[in-house]
Amino acid sequence: MSTVHIVGAGLAGLSAAVRLTEAGRRVILHESAPQTGGRCRSFYDATLDRVVDNGNHLALSGNRSLLGYLERVGARGALTELRPAAFPFLDLGNGERWCLRPGGLWLFDKARRVPGSRPADYLVALRTLTAGPGAAVADALPANGALYERLWRPLAVSVMNGAPERVSARLFGAVLRETLLRGEAACRPLFAAKGLSAALVDPAVAWLERHGAELRTGARVDGLERAGDRIAALSVDGERVALGGDDAVILAVPAWVAGRLLPEALPASAPTAGRAIVNAHFRLPASIDLPGGMPFLGLVGGTADWLFRRGDVLSVTVSDADALAVQPAETVATALWRDVATALGTPDAALPPFRIIKERRATPDQSPVHAANRPGAQTALKNLVLAGDWTRMGLPATLEGAVRSGEFAARAVLNTRITTFSRLGLFPAFTLPRRGPI
Ligand SMILES: Cc1cc2nc3c(=O)[nH]c(=O)nc-3n(C[C@H](O)[C@H](O)[C@H](O)COP(=O)(O)OP(=O)(O)OC[C@H]3O[C@@H](n4cnc5c(N)ncnc54)[C@H](O)[C@@H]3O)c2cc1C
Repeated sequence: MSTVHIVGAGLAGLSAAVRLTEAGRRVILHESAPQTGGRCRSFYDATLDRVVDNGNHLALSGNRSLLGYLERVGARGALTELRPAAFPFLDLGNGERWCLRPGGLWLFDKARRVPGSRPADYLVALRTLTAGPGAAVADALPANGALYERLWRPLAVSVMNGAPERVSARLFGAVLRETLLRGEAACRPLFAAKGLSAALVDPAVAWLERHGAELRTGARVDGLERAGDRIAALSVDGERVALGGDDAVILAVPAWVAGRLLPEALPASAPTAGRAIVNAHFRLPASIDLPGGMPFLGLVGGTADWLFRRGDVLSVTVSDADALAVQPAETVATALWRDVATALGTPDAALPPFRIIKERRATPDQSPVHAANRPGAQTALKNLVLAGDWTRMGLPATLEGAVRSGEFAARAVLNTRITTFSRLGLFPAFTLPRRGPI
């Protein structure tokens, strides 16, 4: 039986593996790290004596590929859906609070909008849907008014991990189209109450192992051997693994790793740089409620972007954080704790035990030029397919984007068509054939 070798067991690789295993293919996953999950993982932190995530991840109920993936591995219940959709915010500058409650006729209800905004102000977001490939978010959404500072800018920075002036309007528009513009039912926050690995990674690994897929952790693919228009072998930690005539490879690694392994298969504009996200985890003496009554809170006017509460651990996320990531951990913790203490109404509270996690390449650069030149799943090599949050799947580098890229890669291996329509999400459901040629 032919084998599909998947390089990288992040969400893209896992989602491809699930689809292919489901379709009856033999799958071997090669993962260089000792654990699976890639940029979406949990670990035990001895300083805090708690399991924490590498970074807070916010998913929404409109993330249909992510939910489909969980459904397939029997873990739909691992994410808690918060209903109705509500997004509390606090302005650290003046203490003003509001809660965005999308859905129905929300734009006509002052209490559900950003203070100082008018219904017409929200319609400018539609411009991102028709933005040209070279447009940045700031070109489509002019930087003026309360709504820009209190909604569009923070949203763009968190979704795209970059300043609105630098990131693709089209990719941002794709998220709005699949969530905010689909109404309340597509905007409900999804939470991993027991952590990212327990919700999004471990169930898939267990399902794959139960269904005969092989997972090799601590296995770094350090070379791809070409023979004509095919990959003939993988080098795994220096050892040659020959491929059979019908075998295929899915490269589900970050762009910069794919670029090293196979520079000629990628466009020159494929991102080699990543943008940082910094997370701080603070262990509090006891569990507390956040202002707004939700397990998370959006912040504007400070350094911290979002607060997340899980038990007695309060976590802070800062996106577009290249400048912060070069600061010493103690400096970062002090600056972020100042924002947290202000948000909690206890500005003089002492700094509690903390853990700072700097993910320097949390997402690839998502500038318009990179977004417009993303490679698709198929490559010039007949048995090599690409997956990952940086490939062409129509969404920014997110959990949803990574899972969807894995589905596209599985489809490419099974030789089913990926159409512009499906990439745009216009045909949400698809069925994979049981078997098919590469
Ligand atoms: C701090 C942080 C916060 C985030 N917040 C959000 C959020 O709120 N919402 C959201 O939707 N998304 C968020 N993201 C983005 C999301 O986590 C990523 O887009 C997604 O996890 C990428 O998955 P991937 O499979 O494409 O890549 P990866 O997760 O990077 O997986 C690639 C895998 O390949 C492995 N690998 C690399 N080289 C080799 C090799 N040579 N051989 C074998 N294996 C190799 C790596 O170890 C890794 O496991 C966040 C990311 C970070 C880091």
